[in-house]
Amino acid sequence: MLIYQYVGKIEEMMLMHRKSDKSLLSLLIGNKLVRNVKINEILPCISDKERIRVVCQVDRELTDVLPVLYLYIPNATYNERTGALTFMYKQHMITIFKSGKITGTYMRDRKEAEQIMMEVKDLINRAIVYVMTHGPPSKDLIASKKPVSALTVQKHLPGTNCGKCGEKTCYAFAVKVSTGEKDIDECPELKLPENLEKYHELRKLLRPIVI
Ligand code: SF4
Repeated sequence: MLIYQYVGKIEEMMLMHRKSDKSLLSLLIGNKLVRNVKINEILPCISDKERIRVVCQVDRELTDVLPVLYLYIPNATYNERTGALTFMYKQHMITIFKSGKITGTYMRDRKEAEQIMMEVKDLINRAIVYVMTHGPPSKDLIASKKPVSALTVQKHLPGTNCGKCGEKTCYAFAVKVSTGEKDIDECPELKLPENLEKYHELRKLLRPIVI
């Protein structure tokens, strides 16, 4: 039996016995998680010399988690051959390499870089837990994920241009969703009962799995 099957069984047993304490689970998976992200280099940002980019390293190889992150992060790009996953996170372009190297751009300063890298670490750890509890995603699922254009996103939005998402129009919001700068949860109108079907359709297109 593989480790993720064991973890799955334990989770199942805990649910059956209604035990809320997941300390046993933490003990089992604790040493599989990323514990440390070290900033190895701080360089000027190419697009804006006032900002910095960073080159970091985590204490674990990441080949197994890249496909999971690819499926979870809207419009991420993933190259299995080179072992690199790239996506926009807030305003930053993040690239995660299978070797555990991570680069991030457009940071204000080291403090912001450390904060963003902590958030990326949490994301990676959620992906590790996903692999352990669900197993690796199938090749078919990975191949079925397609880029979602701004136009496709717009077709799913309410179209009221109400501005509650912080953008002047639904199309402006759709563009930011398609580049990964905004998440569809930032449109409160999509959560209204009459729009929920479109919300779930769009969520599945952008993010076929949940971690
Ligand atoms: S909150 Fe939703 S409905 Fe309103 S403008 Fe933004 S995307 Fe359009």
